[in-house]
Amino acid sequence: AVKAQNIVKRFGEVTVLRGVELDIPDGAFAVLVGPSGCGKSTLLRLLAGLEQVSEGKILFGEREVTQLEPRDRDIAMVFQSYALYPHMSVRRNLEFGLRLRKTDAATMNQRVGEVAKMLDIAHLLERLPKDLSGGQRQRVAMGRAIVRRPALFLFDEPLSNLDPALRTQVRVDIRKQHDELGATSVYVTHDQVEAMTLADVLYVLEGGEVQQRGRPIDIYDEPRNCFVAGFLGSPA
Ligand code: ATP
Ligand code: MG
Repeated sequence: AVKAQNIVKRFGEVTVLRGVELDIPDGAFAVLVGPSGCGKSTLLRLLAGLEQVSEGKILFGEREVTQLEPRDRDIAMVFQSYALYPHMSVRRNLEFGLRLRKTDAATMNQRVGEVAKMLDIAHLLERLPKDLSGGQRQRVAMGRAIVRRPALFLFDEPLSNLDPALRTQVRVDIRKQHDELGATSVYVTHDQVEAMTLADVLYVLEGGEVQQRGRPIDIYDEPRNCFVAGFLGSPA
């Protein structure tokens, strides 16, 4: 399970997260949803180790990771601006994280092959990122995350740079990869439809606090307060 206990995050005088609790079971697809500025990306960056908590603890299973560097956390992060290395081929992009970890050539080849097949990008391996469509680039970014086989995937609005037609397709792809890999995922969005369709566990955030946690359908049917009801469009 991924656990966050009483997470407080301050930037100088400003408190951005105020006592956030997360408890995400292994294998679950968790979505953090809420309006712009509510602290979603900050919370994800804390899970990734890209920011340090002001107070509180983060645990992956039994292991406390609060103080660990990103590379020691066994995570992969997919951002909205899925920056690929422009001067490297798709293959080199996919291999990058494995090379850093001194993976041998045979294993690297095999992993890249598997992932490329899974994402249907095997025919694109020798191309440069600039010669791909937006959806293909997004799949390469996914591939780069998957190829290391991390235990935890972190997504920050990964669909927001895609055109509407592609959004649905990539959304379905992401959920499919999650299911096939048996991974745990935490996915940030401000889009209610994305949140409702993707989540096993939904967290609704507002003003740096978790307003409600539960199954999407339960939250929709029984919103705890006016904010949640309004945000998810629950019937009055
Ligand atoms: P969006 O949906 O627009 O991406 P968000 O929910 O991801 O919003 P965050 O990026 O987590 O929001 O930001 C939450 C608050 O923290 C905002 O008010 C933001 O201005 C502030 N904030 C984020 N990072 C910093 C920083 N490094 N220094 C100061 N304030 C910050
Ligand atoms: Mg954000």
